Amino acid sequence: MLHMHAVSKAFRTELVETHALRAFDLNVAEGEFVAVTGPSGSGKTTFLNIAGLLESFSDGRYELDGEDVRGLGDDARSRLRNQKIGFVFQSFNLIPDLNLFDNCDVPLRYRRLPAAERKRRIEDALGAVGLGSRLRHFPAQLSGGQQQRVAIARAIAGSPRLLLADEPTGNLDSQMARGVMDLLEEINAQGTTIVMVTHDPAMSARAHRTVRIVDGRVSEASAGAEDGDAARVEPPARAPAPLRIVAGA
Ligand code: ADP
Ligand code: MG
Repeated sequence: MLHMHAVSKAFRTELVETHALRAFDLNVAEGEFVAVTGPSGSGKTTFLNIAGLLESFSDGRYELDGEDVRGLGDDARSRLRNQKIGFVFQSFNLIPDLNLFDNCDVPLRYRRLPAAERKRRIEDALGAVGLGSRLRHFPAQLSGGQQQRVAIARAIAGSPRLLLADEPTGNLDSQMARGVMDLLEEINAQGTTIVMVTHDPAMSARAHRTVRIVDGRVSEASAGAEDGDAARVEPPARAPAPLRIVAGA
């Protein structure tokens, strides 16, 4: 699903050059749920942003779902991102002036999906995260855990093949964090590949394996299968399909 080989990324300013990723190798198989850990500043967010086609890279090779993304222009990258990838951020990134329905509608409108299909997808997704009765509420009327569930609904409404989450439970108390993790597990069980950055050992323990990033590289000490093994994991029988999740907390 995600194959990175020898990817490098440097940020340059007039004064300093920071090598955020160096000769970065990682393979994530379809259907996997991978946790990413590592010290602050080690390159976790840079990796996710490159994986999600939000940022370019200087060297190396990145194949997303069988497609070499290196030569793609901006439009093709945006289209691929919008069709294949869902993002969930630590700070939720909801638009305060839009209600829950309209928040979820933003990426779908960008994709020019017909109104009836957008409505069905949004109602399904918000229903799946347990917020089906709050379509017209605004983000500020919700708890942090609920806001993160809206962000997850917004991501899954697009039926992404790959869900990228950057410390999705970082701003939540442990009970809300467990609820969000339950939801991510259910989404993964339905066939969506998930890569989640987290500092919380209770969260990474629930992933299939943990990749540790140190100094812009995958550390030898990462838990679970070797990267090479991951590429050979059989894909799940089910394709990512319309979600039928009954949300927990
Ligand atoms: P993490 O998410 O693991 O905390 P990041 O990927 O955010 O780490 O950052 C990795 C390194 O790259 C850090 O040294 C950070 O300061 C640097 N960095 C990240 N983004 C930028 C940027 N836009 N400009 C300059 N340096 C950056
Ligand atoms: Mg980060």
